[in-house]
Amino acid sequence: MVNPVLLANAASMALTDEDTRRKLGWTLAAVLSPVILLIAFFCALGSGAADHNTSAVELCFYGGTLPASTPEEYRVCIEEMRASFAQLDTAIHAVNEMTEDGMSLDDIRVKAFFYALYFGAESHGDAPSFADCFVTYEERTRTVTVTNEDGDEEEQEETYTAAIPIENLAQIYQNIRAAMGVEVTAEQQGSADSIYNLIRYGSASGGSGFAGSDVPFIGADGFCSPVGENWRSIVTSEFGNRIDPITGQRDGHSGMDLAVPAGTTIRAALPGTVTAAKYHYSYGYYVMIDHGNGLATLYAHNSQLLVLAGQAVEAGDVISLSGSTGRVTGPHLHFEVRVNGTRTNPRGYLP
Ligand SMILES: [Zn+2]
Repeated sequence: MVNPVLLANAASMALTDEDTRRKLGWTLAAVLSPVILLIAFFCALGSGAADHNTSAVELCFYGGTLPASTPEEYRVCIEEMRASFAQLDTAIHAVNEMTEDGMSLDDIRVKAFFYALYFGAESHGDAPSFADCFVTYEERTRTVTVTNEDGDEEEQEETYTAAIPIENLAQIYQNIRAAMGVEVTAEQQGSADSIYNLIRYGSASGGSGFAGSDVPFIGADGFCSPVGENWRSIVTSEFGNRIDPITGQRDGHSGMDLAVPAGTTIRAALPGTVTAAKYHYSYGYYVMIDHGNGLATLYAHNSQLLVLAGQAVEAGDVISLSGSTGRVTGPHLHFEVRVNGTRTNPRGYLP
């Protein structure tokens, strides 16, 4: 399987060269196989300076005038996608009116999958049905105060429907298969990730990384820094008491925050078994590893998970790419060390 990110990067690099771009040709890019479409969505639509290229993905997400040079068949693809995105926005907004506990559906994630599945397709899937693939609905009851005929206030039970965003990607793919009648291929999953990173972080492969994070930094006792040698210089929040950046309330910070650009490689601290690799409304995409003897580590707010639950890892293995998913104000790694379930200061372990 061709790595879609590498392919797309190679394509966008090649296409900054005016000559290569002309040779590849728009007709070819617009009408051929999904692989060509994948290349096409990173193609420059304008002929201005190479660093001012606008991709079809960005034109769909951000709107704006299409460059005059855009071929007609490509213009149609973009306009159809914009129309579907508008319907998705309405559907996602409706779902988010029904979520609780600070949870919400990530609109970029939903649209990235929709784009990967339907850009250039003969017909698009129904937007509200598609958004519904990312949530479950649950009947719940609550007590409300109403004013009765006599003008008195009384409490009443009422039932209502709550929307709960689905964390498990496999479940989402299964829903898409059942509701939309399409299979999400590995290639489309890769495209959706690239699109997500491009819109959320401004780069198809995530960010630029952090100095030193490309080499595992392992201490004498075998504990590996998840972000490389220079971790001390990027601690933005220590373990323990702090003022919560979102609520302004004092809370116990359950880990250590390390400010790394989105896309930085995150490494396993010790050998062990992955016990969780999934989405959580607060941790975002996170990985938890059980190292045995009651010791576990957790890595939160990633843009991409590169391991699966049940997988064995060695100290220094790359397990994810950092990001800003979940409850965050900016990209960073939230790193936890747990001893028999109790969160412990990671400083005592980091090399
Ligand atoms: Zn944190």
